[in-house]
Amino acid sequence: MPLRFYNTLTQEVELFRPLEDNLVRMYTCGPTVYNYVHIGNFRTFTFQDILRRWLKYRGYQLNHVMNVTDVDDKIIAGAAREGKSIADYTAVYTKAFFEDAATLRLQQPEHVAPATKHIAQMVDAIEKLSAHGSTYTNDGSTYFRITTFPEYGKLSHNDFSGMKTGARVDVDEYDKADARDFVLWKARKGDEPYWDTPFGAGRPGWHIECSAMAMAYLGETLDIHAGGIDLVFPHHENEIAQSESITGKSFARYWLHSEHLHIESQKMSKSLGNFYTLRDLLGQGYAPEAIRYLLASVPYRKKLNFTFEGLKAASKTIERLRDFELRLTSTKLPRGRNDAIAERSAQAIRAFEDALDDDLNTAEALAAIFEYVREINSALDAGEFREENRWDAAKVLEVFDSVFDVLKPSETTGAQADSLSDAEIEKLVTERNQAKKARDFARADAVRNQLLEQGIVLEDTKEGVRWKRK
Ligand code: AMP
Ligand code: ZN
Repeated sequence: MPLRFYNTLTQEVELFRPLEDNLVRMYTCGPTVYNYVHIGNFRTFTFQDILRRWLKYRGYQLNHVMNVTDVDDKIIAGAAREGKSIADYTAVYTKAFFEDAATLRLQQPEHVAPATKHIAQMVDAIEKLSAHGSTYTNDGSTYFRITTFPEYGKLSHNDFSGMKTGARVDVDEYDKADARDFVLWKARKGDEPYWDTPFGAGRPGWHIECSAMAMAYLGETLDIHAGGIDLVFPHHENEIAQSESITGKSFARYWLHSEHLHIESQKMSKSLGNFYTLRDLLGQGYAPEAIRYLLASVPYRKKLNFTFEGLKAASKTIERLRDFELRLTSTKLPRGRNDAIAERSAQAIRAFEDALDDDLNTAEALAAIFEYVREINSALDAGEFREENRWDAAKVLEVFDSVFDVLKPSETTGAQADSLSDAEIEKLVTERNQAKKARDFARADAVRNQLLEQGIVLEDTKEGVRWKRK
């Protein structure tokens, strides 16, 4: 079966075909750079990375644009608090975001578009909307009048037929199912940053940013638009209203939304304070590959509950796959090729491909790989695996890793080694003691090695365990 995606717009799994030959024009909503993003956000960006890689694997050429929201209420407040310009304030978090993304091995989109570098495109879009009769002004701000777009609600499948006219909202976040006219351009306030335009001094709203930049880079109709599930309403609904009011054409053909990362059954979010950043987890000694694996392992339309057990299990799984790879390359084998194993390897690749073609079912894809590894390990034990089968198995791992990208260990940087605090070390030492008590020696050794990698040596003494920095 060819590649299929679940489309939020039609609520169906559909065959994927780009509008133009094999070129995929894709837009994804990027980070708001007012702080370090958390691993919940990175679940969404990791899903987008898997999507990119799978489209490429399937022979498509990509033109992928991601915005960076570098002006909004939180940014303005944060910059004012620190006495910085918004450019200086956001530069820190933009840099951190791309460093973290690289650590998680996320491929860079073809274009990264900061909002403040595209004000002219937004102004142009707002002028077109005004000419079309979709806007009105109030107190110097310009709003989109949603009653001018009868299809409003078609993405979120909300019935807004009873929506109020003239009810407005200035903030970027508002209640689900509460349709209101949204701000396109906010009037200048006090000494906040602003841009001069024919319709007054001020700054753009969040929604117009994505419509204007998506169309500037990718044209009037995109193939794929993706983001986290929380963006369906109002953000993406508003993007559709804006873009389609300007062009009269369909804005995006496939809408893909990823479910949230949860922690203790709640959405991980900045405002709830229940979040970990990538840096938090690296500081605790977890490898970036384990975090990447964990985020990618649950199919993107299912909620993923973050736990440390899950993260540890991810580390163990990667370890097993690396052991398998090592065994393949280091075992002395009888000459020749076992055709049944060659065929089994080709079949593993087909099963992996079928799973990802099925709306990126990463869990099924991984199951296909594990089953294969189990069988090949048995074949190795039984002496059935021959010299030339190495290449068959290597090919399976190569295909797997072209998407999951976890086999190569990350280098532990000096910064990471330095970042374990005494309290964190004590916590790991306690964890090792508990593992020993529970006779889980594998775990105890893993903790010892993890500490060793961070430059911490353990000494078992009569008084208990002592640790020191190398
Ligand atoms: P923001 O920086 O808040 O605009 O969010 C960036 C991206 O992360 C958006 O696509 C959000 O939908 C997504 N996001 C926010 N919280 C989570 C979460 N807990 N799990 C998965 N994605 C999230
Ligand atoms: Zn957006």
